[in-house]
Amino acid sequence: MNKHIALIAGDGIGPEVTAEAVSVLEALGEGFTFVPLAAGGNAIDAAGEALPPATLAAARECGAVLLGAVGGPQWDGLPGHKRPERALLGLRAGLGVFANLRPAYLMPQLINACPLKEEALRAGNPKGEALFDLLIVRELTGGLYFGEQGRRGDTAFDTESYSRGEIERALQAGYQAAGRRRGKLCVVDKANVLESSRLWRETAETVSKAYPHIETSYMYVDNCAMQLIRAPGQFDVLVTSNLFGDILSDEAAALTGSIGMLPSASLGNLKDGRPAGLYEPIHGSAPDLAGRDQANPIGAILSAAMMLRYSFGMEEAARRIEQAVASALAQGLRTRDIACCGPEERTAGTKEMGEAVRRCLR
Ligand code: NAD
Repeated sequence: MNKHIALIAGDGIGPEVTAEAVSVLEALGEGFTFVPLAAGGNAIDAAGEALPPATLAAARECGAVLLGAVGGPQWDGLPGHKRPERALLGLRAGLGVFANLRPAYLMPQLINACPLKEEALRAGNPKGEALFDLLIVRELTGGLYFGEQGRRGDTAFDTESYSRGEIERALQAGYQAAGRRRGKLCVVDKANVLESSRLWRETAETVSKAYPHIETSYMYVDNCAMQLIRAPGQFDVLVTSNLFGDILSDEAAALTGSIGMLPSASLGNLKDGRPAGLYEPIHGSAPDLAGRDQANPIGAILSAAMMLRYSFGMEEAARRIEQAVASALAQGLRTRDIACCGPEERTAGTKEMGEAVRRCLR
């Protein structure tokens, strides 16, 4: 197994949160080697471009990539194609990662940080618990964001285009994830209006036959947006297009308490039996928190857990990290973004939260 991990700490709070994720991985004692690489604003300053070719080449040689976040106000004046965020698109395309997995779950310790009423949380949960645990699989390299776009006089257009192959591989990623979870998969589309959505549905009907043990359902995206706030506990895995996934995953993230909590994995084709993988917390570089030891490192730490699960096949180690995070929260430790002033709570900085997770791991 290639145990080299490309470490792209990035800008703002990126280096602070990835440092904690790296320490947690090191505490496992599994012999990973970290390869620090530059991308984003820091790479523009050092090398004149957001994604130096050497970074992409080195990242492709590693078993997986762990990224913090890129961007910041000091680079905001640059034209679009030169901005730090271009590094993200370049990495996704260069690594060939086409399925973006975004889990969103409410930890019982953070129920007060969730904006939903308890009835809504209980409504959809099969066991009647005030919790939800869902995974959005977003197609990442096709659809509206990559279709033909332009202007004709006073008219602007963006084109949604999907091939059967692009849909199939996103669905496969969803079914594989559903097989590891509670065995339910919902395809989210707008098949009553959009031709591309009808192809999604047709393709899903075919692909689902290979997964008879998974319960497949279909939902229109407008209804799904409503169901997520009415009864999120009804969902296990949701698979959807680039645009719908972008919007729904932010909605789901808001239900978990803080953007600082959530990890993500972007997966591609199999290489040596494992998918190419790019792992990152879903938040940005939070310039307002940079250098203050206030950022929540949990999204980055849980991204490392996803990396163990998907790129290294180390399910047990991934669960140990997830349980260690839950234990640290159960002890009342809270970074400022998830603090609700409960009597058992104690505010912690980035480093203290990372150390608490490592302690719980031991
Ligand atoms: P952001 O996610 O950086 O911050 C949004 C809000 O969430 C801020 O109030 C911030 O303090 C808070 N927040 C974010 N992460 C947190 C954490 N770990 N702990 C506690 N609070 C946290 O989004 P933004 O402010 O829109 O963007 C800032 C910069 O990041 C921009 O340059 C943007 O382009 C970039 N960005 C990068 C990525 C990425 O690298 N994947 C993603 C989104 C934004």
